Amino acid sequence: MSTPDSPFASYHLWSLVAPVAEQQRWHCQMRRGFIKARQHEPQVKALLAKATASQRIGLLAQKGVYEFHHHRHLLKQSDGVEKIAQILKLSNSSDEVQQRVLQILKNYYNNPLLLGKRIILLTRGDEGFPKPILIDHEHYYFRLYAAMDCVFTESDSTLHILDFKTGKSAFDRRQALVYLIAARYLYPAYQAIASFYNLELCKKSELIRVTKTELDSIEFELANIARKHQQDLQKYQQTNSDFSEIFPPNPGYHCRFCPFNSICEFSVVRPRLTPI
Ligand code: SF4
Repeated sequence: MSTPDSPFASYHLWSLVAPVAEQQRWHCQMRRGFIKARQHEPQVKALLAKATASQRIGLLAQKGVYEFHHHRHLLKQSDGVEKIAQILKLSNSSDEVQQRVLQILKNYYNNPLLLGKRIILLTRGDEGFPKPILIDHEHYYFRLYAAMDCVFTESDSTLHILDFKTGKSAFDRRQALVYLIAARYLYPAYQAIASFYNLELCKKSELIRVTKTELDSIEFELANIARKHQQDLQKYQQTNSDFSEIFPPNPGYHCRFCPFNSICEFSVVRPRLTPI
């Protein structure tokens, strides 16, 4: 996915390149460098492999929804939540993860959002990178990665792309826009809309729909992000020592929550070595 010769874009890359408006102060390009340029270095790889409790909860929640719809009778059975918890091997997780995922399963059991929908796609969440979509336009070329959680059709045949969330983070409209770009290639016969649903807070987002002209301009923006990122990767490949110029650090309080703070020389929270 990070081959310098082949431009790609995804919502994840977009979020690493540009912050949402209110998060400008905390945005650090160096994180993109660690994640997308140095991800194969053993130290970086090890840090990336450490799933946080929130990531684990997100993954188990998605798997829980998937399992409910693959054992649909459990949505009607009084011990359905316990049965899904067993399938997920929830007892192997920490207390916090168990409690929050159990609550998510209960929420879904009480309000199974997808029940009765014509589901076209429902992923487990651990499938890895999806197959890229090749976007070959007269003025640009890039691969688009869009890992959709769920796709179904509404009664009027509109295609609905639904993204499941957990935790408290706000919905980022850009993720829905990437899905809508992907839908125009994967499901060209449909009118598509997208939305988010927080399984923990039982909160739906507004329905997101955009015109063809808006989609064209978003696609163009993604092509620019892909090109800029590819150039950065090429520069880094040519001169590794320019890492901090290509991916400039923005240290601050937010370094506390950065997974790379133990190896980043600019981190304000990195433990200092005492001189001998
Ligand atoms: S530790 Fe701070 S400066 Fe370093 S990559 Fe993370 S956020 Fe950026």
